[in-house]
Amino acid sequence: MSKCKKIKALALLSGGLDSTLAVKLMLDQGLDVEAVNFVSPFCLCRKGGCGALEVAKNLNVQLKTINFGEEYIKIVRKPRFGYGKNMNPCVDCRIFMLEKAKEYARKTGASFIFTGEVLGQRPMSQHGRTLGVIEEQAGLKGKILRPLSAKLLPPTEVEKKGLVNRKTLLAIEGRSRKKQIRLAEELKVTEYSCPGGGCLLTYREFACKLRDLFEHRKRFSLKQVQLLKIGRHFRFGKSKIIVGRNEAENHLLLQMMVSGDYCFEAQNTGSPITLLQGPKTRTAIKKAAELTAYHSDKKLGDLSVRYGKGDFNKSLRIPIPNREEVERLRVRAP
Ligand code: SF4
Repeated sequence: MSKCKKIKALALLSGGLDSTLAVKLMLDQGLDVEAVNFVSPFCLCRKGGCGALEVAKNLNVQLKTINFGEEYIKIVRKPRFGYGKNMNPCVDCRIFMLEKAKEYARKTGASFIFTGEVLGQRPMSQHGRTLGVIEEQAGLKGKILRPLSAKLLPPTEVEKKGLVNRKTLLAIEGRSRKKQIRLAEELKVTEYSCPGGGCLLTYREFACKLRDLFEHRKRFSLKQVQLLKIGRHFRFGKSKIIVGRNEAENHLLLQMMVSGDYCFEAQNTGSPITLLQGPKTRTAIKKAAELTAYHSDKKLGDLSVRYGKGDFNKSLRIPIPNREEVERLRVRAP
């Protein structure tokens, strides 16, 4: 293929092994590859992007990062195609990603989009029929190339047009990663990061907290979502109580307070920081103080807990509650 006629393709690059291999395969075909990486508020990676930036740099591919915001939260709240095992709306999520990729491909003049999806690898979104539904809903029927499984799927428009040589594509399927690891060795791909599944929506404990938030708040900010990742969560009527689990979380909770939130701290003993959000009734304040006392270093008797809107200017003395009382308030699966 001559340099001036290079075909441009847009990759969905998660930074994991499969999408990294897909990019490498397309580069080896002589295509001009650019990539998009989606960062969801539910991503488990601390720095976000799951290492896609490093992968793109290593492969010498230009990368566009697209952050998911409020629009995505609406999808998670009410997915058209339902949830997977927990609160993961994988089908809707993939449609959303492809729609965003389609928009971006149009802007950059990419001739087609490809992904690192492997047939049968994910229970919800990577089965033959579902892949078809996802494409159709995203307005990309027959237009998404999946280089790792292409030979097991009907030929795409891209292959039919001869933009990509089907013979060089692969027929990998299933959940085992052995073939991909072998291929990575063959292609000398050494840099890739967290394997798929770095999504908090697939975790039961997180799903319970998110469900609780959806049930109690019609509207909320992305900050509220970030708070779900921190601390122990308790529900008392319309009030939400979050208790820090360690020093770092205590700092974060204080930083993430918004006007109207109360913070709590037990006096004269090692104590977590607790946030009280929502109505600050006398009983809600008492519950937040009790939960602070329970998670402090003092285990018996009673305790003074100071609280306020950030300046801890009030205090109350309360007995340390027992475990059953605490567990009754914990946000957990029904
Ligand atoms: S696991 Fe999470 S990020 Fe991945 S498709 Fe499902 S909802 Fe989307």
